[in-house]
Amino acid sequence: KSKNKKARLKSRVDFTKIDPSLLPTVIIVGRPNVGKSALFNRLIRRREALVYNTPDDHVTRDIREGIAKLGDLRFKVLDSAGLETEATSGTILSRTTEMTGHVLARTQLAILLIDVRDGLQPLDLEVGKWMRKHASNIHTIVAMNKSESLDERGLVTAAAGEAHSLGFGDPIAISAETGLGMAELYETLRPLLEDYALQLPNDMKCEENGLVEVGKNPESKVPLQLAIVGRPNVGKSTLLNTLLQEERVLVGPESGLTRDSIRAKFQFEDRTIYLVDTAGWLHRSGQEKGPSSLSIVQTRKNLMRAHVVALVLDGEEIARKKSSMKHDEVIIARQAVEEGRALVVIVNKMDLLRGKQNSMLYEKVLKVVPEEIQTLIPQITGIPVLFISALEGRGRIEVMRQVVDAYQKWCSRLSTARLNRWLRKVMSRHSWKDQATQPKIKYFTQVKARPPTFVAFLTGGIPIRIMQRSIPRKTATNSSSNNNKNSSSKVHMKL
Ligand code: GDP
Ligand code: GDP
Repeated sequence: KSKNKKARLKSRVDFTKIDPSLLPTVIIVGRPNVGKSALFNRLIRRREALVYNTPDDHVTRDIREGIAKLGDLRFKVLDSAGLETEATSGTILSRTTEMTGHVLARTQLAILLIDVRDGLQPLDLEVGKWMRKHASNIHTIVAMNKSESLDERGLVTAAAGEAHSLGFGDPIAISAETGLGMAELYETLRPLLEDYALQLPNDMKCEENGLVEVGKNPESKVPLQLAIVGRPNVGKSTLLNTLLQEERVLVGPESGLTRDSIRAKFQFEDRTIYLVDTAGWLHRSGQEKGPSSLSIVQTRKNLMRAHVVALVLDGEEIARKKSSMKHDEVIIARQAVEEGRALVVIVNKMDLLRGKQNSMLYEKVLKVVPEEIQTLIPQITGIPVLFISALEGRGRIEVMRQVVDAYQKWCSRLSTARLNRWLRKVMSRHSWKDQATQPKIKYFTQVKARPPTFVAFLTGGIPIRIMQRSIPRKTATNSSSNNNKNSSSKVHMKL
């Protein structure tokens, strides 16, 4: 069993990569007024719902369909007011049965809602019975809604006991209105939905980094995409030639893609590496160099395609100036980090600083570059900085080791247990001025790699997205971005 669990963790499904039409479907069922629409609305948030069945006369509501977003989970959700089993109204029941037959046929999961305040009602039992009869192949979970108030604690416990008698296992306590219990809902749904998502059409397969179309990635290991960026004349082409050695293979342009996608491919140890958009430099040797600044737009395009970005700086220039990085270099470094790419900084032309007369300058460069990077990109600690001479051609192994290492960190996964231990430590060290503003993180987990992405559920169940841009071995810094308006739930953390 634990082996299965491990295997599953390894290939967590990235729901955001699934074509929406292929997403698993969850239906919300329950008697009237338990809060089905409220839960539906919370799950789809402000996205549009599709009303795709409008029954006539007395059925009060329509069946609505929308794409639910819960942490990194995506699924289709149906609000089934039409399933209501009005015991008194045989007509509604029979019509409902007919109408929902085709709906249930394409549904994988059901959330049976009950109202904690009312306890289990005869109508709830009837809905349960109805589900067993008409939807026996659908996995049903029970959620006790309206559990938000602490006064209701006793009620929740009592209702949980009763809800067991529905025969659908342990119920979870939620509040559609406040978002309480969304973390538990997430935890319950993820493995179930993953099982369905893994039953993929034949032309899709689940790779480490999500779903890919079969044939797109023949290698078992996804090739590492490396972008070498930097201002003109810092030595990118020279470094490139060192990295490629004789193995230079130009690949592309691939069908349907522009000339931009021409890549150089080479092997380092057992890995295939693609150098992103190097065609320009390879053909340019000996030609007039353009303006001395870096094209931010073009560089950004390149780093969007890369897993690892190697930013090349000119060590000799740094030695003679006050500050090490130029404005455009800082922008690119920050962009790489913000786009979630692993960043490696390479200080080139160190050979020009050798010799006794230059030793002060040499030392200065060694010191000033890492310090400045730490100041300019404070959200990440431990960005690797390498000092090389591309001209002497000896940096190949060193550079590639760092690149591969950065890539591996980018692909790494941390266990929920480890993350939560770390989180507790961080939270306990922090002092908040006001208890009320102190975020309470209920659940914190890594949802995907490449780049490592974490989801934290705060009190109230608002999911926030934390992107870890680089995980140096012992120390790293996370920063979070939060799409919610509630900016007080932003957290910056050091790992
Ligand atoms: P439906 O008939 O099952 O779709 O139920 P609705 O979503 O229309 O909700 C019925 C009533 O319950 C409405 O007045 C909602 O505001 C209220 N309600 C829904 N969810 C909650 C909740 O979590 N807590 C509380 N206190 N009220 C809720
Ligand atoms: P690019 O514009 O970034 O691709 O830079 P190039 O690779 O074309 O290099 C620009 C100039 O710097 C060339 O004259 C190179 O010979 C020189 N250069 C590149 N790397 C080094 C190095 O490590 N040491 C020294 N001394 N010169 C270098």
